[in-house]
Amino acid sequence: MDISSQEIEAIVRQVLDRVQPASSGMPVRPAVRSQDALAPCACAKGQDGVFERVEDAIEAAWKAQRSWVTEYKIEDRKRVVEAIRVCARAHIEEWCHKIVDETGMGRYEDKVEKHLAVINKTPGPECLRTEALTGDAGLMLEEYAPFGVICSITPTTNPTETIINNTISMISGGNTIVFNVHPRAKRVSAECLQALNRAIVDAGGPANLITMTREPNMENIDKMAASPKIRMMAGTGGMGMVNTLLRTGKKCIGAGAGNPPVIVDQTADVELAAKKIYEGASFDNNILCFAEKEAFVVEESYDGFLYNIQKVGAYLLTPGQTEQLTRLCIQQKKDGEYTANKDWVGKDIAVILKQIGVTVPADCRLAVCEVAKDHPFVLAEQMMPILPIVRCKSFEEAEQAALAAEHGNRHTSSIFSRDVYNMTHFARLIETTIYVKNSCTKAGVGIGGEGFCTMTIAGPTGEGITCAKSFCRRRRCMLAEGGLRII
Ligand code: NAD
Repeated sequence: MDISSQEIEAIVRQVLDRVQPASSGMPVRPAVRSQDALAPCACAKGQDGVFERVEDAIEAAWKAQRSWVTEYKIEDRKRVVEAIRVCARAHIEEWCHKIVDETGMGRYEDKVEKHLAVINKTPGPECLRTEALTGDAGLMLEEYAPFGVICSITPTTNPTETIINNTISMISGGNTIVFNVHPRAKRVSAECLQALNRAIVDAGGPANLITMTREPNMENIDKMAASPKIRMMAGTGGMGMVNTLLRTGKKCIGAGAGNPPVIVDQTADVELAAKKIYEGASFDNNILCFAEKEAFVVEESYDGFLYNIQKVGAYLLTPGQTEQLTRLCIQQKKDGEYTANKDWVGKDIAVILKQIGVTVPADCRLAVCEVAKDHPFVLAEQMMPILPIVRCKSFEEAEQAALAAEHGNRHTSSIFSRDVYNMTHFARLIETTIYVKNSCTKAGVGIGGEGFCTMTIAGPTGEGITCAKSFCRRRRCMLAEGGLRII
């Protein structure tokens, strides 16, 4: 019988585990593993979490989850999460360059900022606070328990950012993960996942805490939905995918599409609005679900806003150029719905404008155009650095146009205003998960704003700005008859 060195390593480890039971929660694992050592998986030859077959990826993550909850303590989770942050920090430049190369979308420097945000501002296990209640009838504890193995589907727009973010959030809650990454980002996603797995093992954590298949596909998602070992489906991406997950019958966390409108009302500081909207709408070439996608500007502020957004660097398209770009960038589906031409999603504005013979300065990040409220650039989630601006006669008209453009996604919206009534009224009407006043919408996920960061904004299923808590089950422990009370 042929037996590989990896299989021998796995057998030795299993024997050692049996004769040396973990004492302090620190598992019996070698402290340092070489970069190219294979993860010990008796079920198949996964390589640092990357498997050929989804069945093996599930099995490995399932075994890792059993180990993670029975052999490790909360302190171990904290140490492993810290190791993930350190590892990801060391790879930021490499991964950001590779994402741009592989997906052909976005801006390197903005990807660095996104990575720093998820690495530094995704909460770890410390956010899982136990709740205790005592009274005449005893002591009640409610704790955040793991679901088990989570299937996590990641988008092409934030590939490694979502892997880092979801890994920290999900494993902090005691879960393990099988990722199904976007096929257009599979190489950089696999490299990221393998590096994180090596860092986890080097920090004393179990192998295969996070796994994936080398070739992601829809069939794998079906198999995960059918597997009793997968306890939750978490999807970050478009609504087609989220709706598929919602039909699986499993516990599902759906983070779907947005088309965030921004209102600039008659009381706004138009200089601030122009500066912030230019920054937000051009961030990573507008591929983020929460980036400003269309502006509704009230008559009194319109000319000042249009002047200032050009002053900070935006290129104003002529009506003819707007027409040409619409034909280039927008397609219409059979049902009449407008959709982005994927060839131009996330491209630099200079590259897009070159197609219609327009040259802009190298530092220009955004084009703007003056259009009607039902223009395809307003209605489609186009994810390009092209901001349609709609002139509105009144605040009420701006509100109704913004509501229509958001399509009921209830994802993200913003307002520039000094009027508390307007700010409140629009918030109540639009009902978005993220609502930002007088800043870029990215402030709503902690990038230039208060609060923690996530790349999984779960609007459709209601968890909102996800963190470790979102991926946990609440469990209650009851000690009756006043036990353990001190008063
Ligand atoms: P996408 O929907 O094309 O792909 C996302 C993931 O879903 C990929 O892994 C893909 O392989 C898979 N997928 C696609 N269609 C599927 C289906 N029918 N069944 C099962 N899986 C399917 O999205 P994308 O282009 O990668 O990302 C951009 C979209 O994601 C935008 O609509 C954006 O608003 C949204 N997004 C939302 C969030 C959020 O937190 N709410 C975050 C990032 C992106």
